[in-house]
Amino acid sequence: MNILFLDQSGKLGGAELSLIDVASAFGDRCLVGLFADGPFRQALEQHEIPVKVLTDQPLLVHRNSSFWQSLKSLRQIVRLVGKIVRLSQDFDLVYANTQKAFVLSAIASLFTHHPLVYHLRDILSPEHFSQTNLSLAIWLANHFATLVIANSQATKQAFIEAGGRAEIVKVVYNGFEPASYRVPLSTSSELRQQLNLDNRFVIGHFSRLSPWKGQHILLEALTHCPDNVVALFVGDALFGEQEYVEQLHHQVTESRLSDRVRFLGFRSDVPQLMTMCDLVAHTSTVPEPFGRVIVEAMLCDTPIVAAAAGGVVELIEPGKTGWLAPPGDALKLADVIHQCRRRPEQTSTIAHRAKLKATQCFQLAHTNQQIAALLNTIVKPCSSGFEPTRMDMTKQ
Ligand code: UDP
Repeated sequence: MNILFLDQSGKLGGAELSLIDVASAFGDRCLVGLFADGPFRQALEQHEIPVKVLTDQPLLVHRNSSFWQSLKSLRQIVRLVGKIVRLSQDFDLVYANTQKAFVLSAIASLFTHHPLVYHLRDILSPEHFSQTNLSLAIWLANHFATLVIANSQATKQAFIEAGGRAEIVKVVYNGFEPASYRVPLSTSSELRQQLNLDNRFVIGHFSRLSPWKGQHILLEALTHCPDNVVALFVGDALFGEQEYVEQLHHQVTESRLSDRVRFLGFRSDVPQLMTMCDLVAHTSTVPEPFGRVIVEAMLCDTPIVAAAAGGVVELIEPGKTGWLAPPGDALKLADVIHQCRRRPEQTSTIAHRAKLKATQCFQLAHTNQQIAALLNTIVKPCSSGFEPTRMDMTKQ
């Protein structure tokens, strides 16, 4: 089966890292088409996944764009749709990994009639999208998607609540290679020394810097913790959230936390950094679709506390494999930090159990098998290769 994957971003967010894992299974039987150039293209090339950047101008439509703002990009949209139509001739199906990629692929499918898969990695709700974008995504999914793969039950539920057809959506959790998260103890203690963090209780926060990722909540929690508790923020403002970055730095100064907070920017050694931490905190203020960092912390054997909303509650059993705190509740977060410090043995038992659970439940090989099985039901083999057929999802 030959697949044309499409993604709107040139940057390395969670959706893009997950796509590398999915596309790797198809090797040279796929092409990843991008709507922007950047580190994502380089990462795909490093993994020897064929990639093509489809435009040299970034699409000016955003998650919160109104109908009229979207209309301004019409010429660019038409050009991109034309490219997708031409490219897709050589493939058995089109697989959209992000919302904009899906919208354009859906329009293209009017001309190509290829099966269209929408890998839904967003919570389609007004908290995340403008009403225009939300309604458009749902309408197009209902009319043009052969299959919607949701990355959690929460993502699936939001899709259905927004008016999406329940019979076309299937849940497949993201998968991980546990071996990539096995870090020698010597590496993490060297890293701790390099960063001058010996004898500190280190809380890691791994996420792009963005208001809804809630870095400010961890800063607030820190003010309720003793001085030897420090925070590392790993990640960059990927989508122009410069104002929030300034706000965070201001909060650090105002709260006299300068000696206890580091911003490391985007890093490609997440497993090493996570293993070095005493606790990983996830603080999204609105429902998180999945939360890759949670499973990654588990695989690193590092305790995790996360904001209890969206897909997160499907990943953590509170008190057994981690901790949950209500989104935006800095005091509750500080309370969990105290507990972890006070009861290190209980904390590491929970982390070991979480590692076992994540290793069993989130294997990349299993995720890729599930995706392949779903794709096989919508693209049937025939003598001359593969013949696309519309899937009767109600039989699934
Ligand atoms: N990440 C990374 N380097 C960084 C910060 C984050 O590689 O400096 C990775 C992180 O390990 C995770 C992904 O970015 O795999 C973020 O995915 P998640 O689902 O947590 O959030 P999203 O970006 O999809 O909102």
